[in-house]
Amino acid sequence: MIFRSPFPDVVVPDVSLHELLFADVAERADRVALIDGTSGAEMTYGQLAGAIDRLAAALAERGIGKGDVVGILSPNTPYYAVVFHGILRAGATATTINALYTANEVASQLADAGAKMLFTVSVLLPNGLPAAQQVGLTDDDVVVLDGAEGHPSLTTLLASTGPVPEVVIDPAEDVAVLPYSSGTTGKAKGVMLTHRNLVANIVQSTPIINIGGDTRILAVLPFFHIYGMQVLMNNGLSVGATVVTMPRFDLPEFLRVIAEHRTDRVYIAPPVAVALAKHPLVDQFDLSAIDTIFSGAAPLDVDLAAAVRKRLGCKVLQGYGMTEMSPVSHAIPEGRDDISVGTVGVIYPNMENRFVDPATGEDVGVGERGELWCRGPNVMKGYLNNEEATSATLDADGFLHTGDVAVIDADGVVSIVDRVKELIKYKGYQVPPAELEAVLLTHPQIADAAVVGVLDADGEEVPKAFVVRQANADDLDAAGVMTFVADRVAPHKKVRVVEFIEAIPKSAAGKILRKDLRAREKADS
Ligand code: ATP
Ligand code: MG
Repeated sequence: MIFRSPFPDVVVPDVSLHELLFADVAERADRVALIDGTSGAEMTYGQLAGAIDRLAAALAERGIGKGDVVGILSPNTPYYAVVFHGILRAGATATTINALYTANEVASQLADAGAKMLFTVSVLLPNGLPAAQQVGLTDDDVVVLDGAEGHPSLTTLLASTGPVPEVVIDPAEDVAVLPYSSGTTGKAKGVMLTHRNLVANIVQSTPIINIGGDTRILAVLPFFHIYGMQVLMNNGLSVGATVVTMPRFDLPEFLRVIAEHRTDRVYIAPPVAVALAKHPLVDQFDLSAIDTIFSGAAPLDVDLAAAVRKRLGCKVLQGYGMTEMSPVSHAIPEGRDDISVGTVGVIYPNMENRFVDPATGEDVGVGERGELWCRGPNVMKGYLNNEEATSATLDADGFLHTGDVAVIDADGVVSIVDRVKELIKYKGYQVPPAELEAVLLTHPQIADAAVVGVLDADGEEVPKAFVVRQANADDLDAAGVMTFVADRVAPHKKVRVVEFIEAIPKSAAGKILRKDLRAREKADS
């Protein structure tokens, strides 16, 4: 059974991403496009569009054009947008690299993507340079935005006086970006997203996400990840908003930037919600500018969201997506206060869903759990160099098998239960770890928590909780944690093992790295 979006289809224009974002830039040339949250430095739309053209010209002079891939290894700054769009403007493909990657990880992405150049910053050069050398790039191929001995800088490239290259983009075929999935469940995969995929997801959001020229977006989530790249940077720039960048998450600095730059729209992942709900520092800043907090990338618990809403007096919305969908397929539409923030809202325009029982391959109906399958113009072309993974994920009918278990209600509102692969099987019953984590977070003495399946002495899989105590909560013990959960869930979902740790391992995009906890468990046994 196919479920459709409650919204009518939107028209996806047949244009490149650059045309969508910058065709009418002259009308807003003097408005501020980006602000460096750390230094306060501003870049107008006119400056941004001009720099993109200069960079595209410089890349063309170096022989970079259609079919070429260029890497970006940088934290969020206004110049990220220049580099990203300069590469696309030259007709090439940008592969965005996790700024926390080791040299070997950077090298493996550069090699897999076949990158011919790398843009980085001086602080990341110790990882970027050896990686670039490993794949045969020269010092001249490694641009250091803020400058470094022996490398071209962004200023050098922007001084180009050559013509802006005239490239003809085929939006449906040409790969604009090659981000890598987060690597939460295994090795990160290169995801081929065309111009049409990116353009589609931006226009699909118009009836759902209400942003405009007066919106001030806080951009702390990394632009190298699809959420930051599309929802924060490109969606923001497409409507003429102001995007305030931060290079990394640091709670006091995050709160300072919101207060000082009066950002009204703050995009987060659930770990930030934990801090906003629980950390004492939050009360010391004026966060009254915040109108809406939007959470994505991992499950947001409804009680946690309610605590944030109450403490900050703002709206809290949730959306769901994945790299393979450019990325958003579901979100709570603006103004729909009737929809619980514990859900991911409704199906995006131009999209269709199926909910399929992974065991039988049969569709399930309203109210029943199944693997979520999605079809729409924002669904990737495929994985790079990985025909096997592509055919296992994208079926012949064009449905993407998300690997997430979800349920749709009679009103068309979708809830994500958990990942198919991370469900714990306890005596044949399914236990979603995300649900137990949400319960644990409601405990006043628990600062953070994660749950994985471990084998007990009889070889039976049981839920184990890794728990971070709040400061001054030394008296919280394992029995206390287990009783707390047992009082709130069905008997088969009880937490049966507890370990206290210093911090929950999380990715830069805000996901709990359960695979790291499982690996640690294996190493211990
Ligand atoms: P990999 O595919 O490499 O293992 P990943 O799936 O974490 O990593 P992303 O594309 O960054 O890589 O993340 C997409 C996944 O994030 C989804 O499949 C889903 O499991 C999770 N996710 C995103 N948003 C939500 C949400 N609102 N609620 C629950 N899960 C979410
Ligand atoms: Mg994935």
